[in-house]
Amino acid sequence: MLTKEQAQENLKKYGPNELEERKKRSTFRIFLDQFKDFLVIILIISAVVSGFLGDVESAIVIFVVITMNAILGTGQTVKAEQSLIRLKQLSAPDAKVMRDGQLMQIPAREVTVGDEVIVEAGDLIPADGKLLTVASLKVDESALTGESLPAEKSLDEVPEGAALGDQTNRVFSGCFVTYGRASFEVTEIGMRTEVGKIAGLLKQASAKLTPLQKNLDDFGKKLSLIILVFCGILFAISVIRGESIVNAFLFAVALAVAAIPEALSSIVTIVLSFGTQKMAKEHAIIRKLQAVEGLGSVSVICSDKTGTLTQNKMTVENYYVNGASVCSKEIDPKDPAQRELLMFSILCNDSRSIDGQEIGDPTETALIHLGSLLGVDYAQIREEYPRLSEVPFDSDRKLMSTEHSIDGHYVIVVKGAVDVLLGRISHIQDRDTVREITEEDRVRIDVQNRHFSENGLRVLAFAFKTLEQERGLTFHDENNLTFLGLISMMDPPRVESKEAVAECIKAGIKPIMITGDHKVTAAAIAKRIGILKNMSEACEGAVIENMTDEELRKFVPNISVYARVSPEHKIRIVRAWQERGNIVAMTGDGVNDAPALKQADIGVAMGITGSEVAKDAAAMVLTDDNFATIVKAVENGRNIYQNIKNAIQFLLSGNFAAILAVLYASLVNLPVPFSPVHLLFINLLTDSLPAIALGLEPHNPEVMKDKPRTVNESILTKQFLTSIGVEGLCIGIMTMTAFLIGYRNGNALLASTMAFGTLCSSRLVHGFNCKANKPVIFTKRFCNNRYLIGAFILGWLLITSVLMIPPLHGIFKVQTLSIVQLMMVYGLALLNLPIIQLLKYIRKIGK
Ligand code: ATP
Repeated sequence: MLTKEQAQENLKKYGPNELEERKKRSTFRIFLDQFKDFLVIILIISAVVSGFLGDVESAIVIFVVITMNAILGTGQTVKAEQSLIRLKQLSAPDAKVMRDGQLMQIPAREVTVGDEVIVEAGDLIPADGKLLTVASLKVDESALTGESLPAEKSLDEVPEGAALGDQTNRVFSGCFVTYGRASFEVTEIGMRTEVGKIAGLLKQASAKLTPLQKNLDDFGKKLSLIILVFCGILFAISVIRGESIVNAFLFAVALAVAAIPEALSSIVTIVLSFGTQKMAKEHAIIRKLQAVEGLGSVSVICSDKTGTLTQNKMTVENYYVNGASVCSKEIDPKDPAQRELLMFSILCNDSRSIDGQEIGDPTETALIHLGSLLGVDYAQIREEYPRLSEVPFDSDRKLMSTEHSIDGHYVIVVKGAVDVLLGRISHIQDRDTVREITEEDRVRIDVQNRHFSENGLRVLAFAFKTLEQERGLTFHDENNLTFLGLISMMDPPRVESKEAVAECIKAGIKPIMITGDHKVTAAAIAKRIGILKNMSEACEGAVIENMTDEELRKFVPNISVYARVSPEHKIRIVRAWQERGNIVAMTGDGVNDAPALKQADIGVAMGITGSEVAKDAAAMVLTDDNFATIVKAVENGRNIYQNIKNAIQFLLSGNFAAILAVLYASLVNLPVPFSPVHLLFINLLTDSLPAIALGLEPHNPEVMKDKPRTVNESILTKQFLTSIGVEGLCIGIMTMTAFLIGYRNGNALLASTMAFGTLCSSRLVHGFNCKANKPVIFTKRFCNNRYLIGAFILGWLLITSVLMIPPLHGIFKVQTLSIVQLMMVYGLALLNLPIIQLLKYIRKIGK
C-alpha cells in the first residue's frame, strides 16, 4: 500500500497510467489538411497559371479566399476534435485504491506502480499486478488471451515465464472482473502493461465513420462525378465559343469546387460533436458517435426499474417475523426475532457507512440505515460476528450468503428474492423453536409477500442454517435453510419518470420495464408511472424461457413489464424487437448486462451505479442514471439529425442554384454569369457559416410529436431531394432574373455583378428557410438562432462591402451598382423567403 505522497512521487516518476493514443494532429497539420482536396489543388494551380498569364488579381483573391476557408475549416475541426476529447475524458474509467489505509476512488489514469487496487465484479482492471487477496475471483481476459471463458484466479505461485493465460496469480490491465473480488499490487502501468505492448496495433485503428457520414460520402462521390462531367462539358463549350483555355479551365474548376459538397461529411462531424457536448451537459455521455443518429430512430426503450425509473433510495418499510408484520417505526430491537432479523440483515450485507455517507447497493444500505436509526452499530456487529466466507449476490441467482461464527456455532445467513429463497427452505423459525415448514406457512408467507409487492415494495427474504464446522461456502450450501422473516422496502418512482414515459408514448416509442424484481412489485410501480395499463402486460422471465425465437417475436408487442428477468432474457427481448424492425435502446448496469448492451442498437449504461463492464459495452452512459435522460437524449438525437439534414439542404439547394444559373446561361448563349472568384467567395466564405449555424439550431421539442424515423431511411429521400431541387430552382430563377436585368440595362459585367450579389444574398436569406421543413416565418422560431442571425449579418456585410466599396471592385470582378440596382439585388434575394415559405406551407397542407 502506498501513502498519498509516495503515490504522487510514483506518478511523477512513471507518468500517467495511459495507453498512448494515435498521434494527435497539430493545428498546423489540420490547416494543411484543408488543402488536401484534389480540386482545391487544381484550382490553386490554375490560379497560378492565370496569374502568370496576366490575371494576377484573380490569382491573389482565389488564394485569399481559399486560405480564409482553410482557417475557418481548421477552427471548426479543432473545436470538434477538442469536444470529442472532452467527451472521452468524461467516460474515462475509475479505480479503487488503498492509500494511507483509506479506500479511495480515483481516475484509472492516476493509478501508479505500487498501488494496492481493490476490484470486484464489474470492475475494469486498471493496471497489471500481482494478487494480494482473492475471493472467488474470475476475470474475463478474452481481450488479451482470446479465451472466452473467464479465468479463475488464486494466490498460488506460478512458475516464471508461464504463458499469459496461465498466470493465475496476476491480473492484467484492460480485463474485466466477472465474479468475486480481490486486491492486487500494481506492477506495471500504461504502455508497459501487457495490453500496452500490443497497443501499437490499436494505434492504427482509424476513426470510424457514422452511417450517415458514409451515406453522405457515397452520395457526395456520385454527385461529384456528375458535376465533373458537367464542368467538363461547360469547359468544352466555352473553348468552342472562343474563351481562352486558361480562363475556361479556371471557371470550370471553380464551379466544380463550389458545386461539389465535399464538406458534407465534416459538417456532420462538427454538428455531432457539438451535439454530444450539449447531451453531456444534460447527463447523457455519448461513447459512440453513431449512437446520436441511432437515437433519432429509437422505437423501443427497455429500461431497468431500480434506480432508472425509481429513485434508488430504498427505505425499509416493514419486518415480517413470527407470522406478523411490523412497520419500521415499531421495530423493537429487544424482540428476539426482530433483533435476529436486524442482525442478519447487517451481517449478510456489503454496504458500509464512511463519515456518515452510506456506500454500497441501496438495497443493502437501507438495512444498515435502519440499524443506525434503531441505535444499532453495524460495525460492532460485524466485528463481533466476523464473516468467514461468502457467496456474493448475483442477479441470476438472486441470493447472497455469508458464513459467520455466532455464539460458538457456524451459521450461514442467506438473503434474497422471496420466491427463490422459498424454494430452498425446509424449516421455519417459530418463536423459540425451529420446525419443519408446512404448506400453510408457505401460503402465509406468499400472501404477505404479495401484499407488500402490490404496494410497490421490494421484498427480501432471510434464512439461515447452522453448520457443524466452518467451511468455505459454495452454492450447494444454499439449501435446506430455515426461514426467519421478510423485510420490505420502498423505492419511490422518480418524479420525472411519469412525464418521460408519457413523452415516449407520444413520440411513438414503446417504453418497457425490464427488472430483476418481483412481478407484482414491478407492475405496481409500472402502473404508477404509466408504462403498464393492464396486468396482462406483465410477465416473468421464466415465461419466455420456453418460447422459441419465433414465438417470442410474436409475444413481445403485448408486454410492457418483464419481471424476474435474467441477463440472457434481456438479449432475447432486444433481439425479438430488432427482428420486428425496431431500433432498441436498452439500459444495463451489471456485469452480465454487457452482452445485452452490445446487442441493443443503443446500449445505455448507468454512470453512477453501473459497472465498468457495462459502461465499456454501452454506446451511451447516463451520469444521473435517469430514464428521463434517455428520453431527452432521444429528443436531442432527433433534433441533431434534423439539423444536419437542414444544413445539407441549405448547401445543396444553394449549389444547385449556381449550377442552374450557369447551365441556363450557356444554353441560351449568354455570357458566363459568374467569375471564378464569385463562386469561390460564396461557397467557401459566405455559405459555410449559415450551414454550421443551421447545424446548431436550438432544439425543437416538437420533434417528439413525430413517429420515430424509419430504420435505415436514407437521409436523401425523394422528398428531400425534391425540396432541394425546387428551392434551388427558385434561387436560380432570382439569380438569372437579376442577371437579365443587368444584361438588358448595361453590360455583361453589370449582369454578372447583380447575379453574384443576388445569389450570395439569396443563399444568406435561404438559411432562414432551411430552419425547418415547414413554414416558420410568422413564428418565434424564425429568429431564435443567434448563430444564424450572426452568420446572416456577417455574410451580408461582406457581400455589401464587395458591391459598394470601389477599391474592391477590380479584385472581385464587379462594378458599382446604383442604389436602385442594389435594392433590386436585395429585393430579389428577399423574395426567396415568402416564395419558399409558401411552397413549404403548400407541401405541409398537401400531406
Ligand atoms: P432492476 O433490474 O430493475 O434494476 P434490480 O437490478 O434491482 O432491478 P436485481 O438486483 O437483479 O434487480 O435484484 C433481483 C432480486 O434480487 C430483487 O428483487 C431482490 O429480491 C434480490 N436482491 C436484490 N439485491 C439483493 C442483495 N443485495 N442481496 C440479496 N438479494 C438481493
